[in-house]
Amino acid sequence: MNLDPALLDILVCPQCRATLAVDVDRDELVCHLCRLAYPVRDDIPVMLVGEARSLAD
Ligand SMILES: [Zn+2]
Repeated sequence: MNLDPALLDILVCPQCRATLAVDVDRDELVCHLCRLAYPVRDDIPVMLVGEARSLAD
């Protein structure tokens, strides 16, 4: 995954507006508040709740 740091700075969770954590291993951006992981496809974050993966505890 090769994300622009400037882009990362402005990305927030579309559901709760929290800042996101990067999961480099899974190519995902994680919102720990919503417990959702947004996929990154071809280095482009997919910031759609409908595309996000729910994180199990
Ligand atoms: Zn969120």
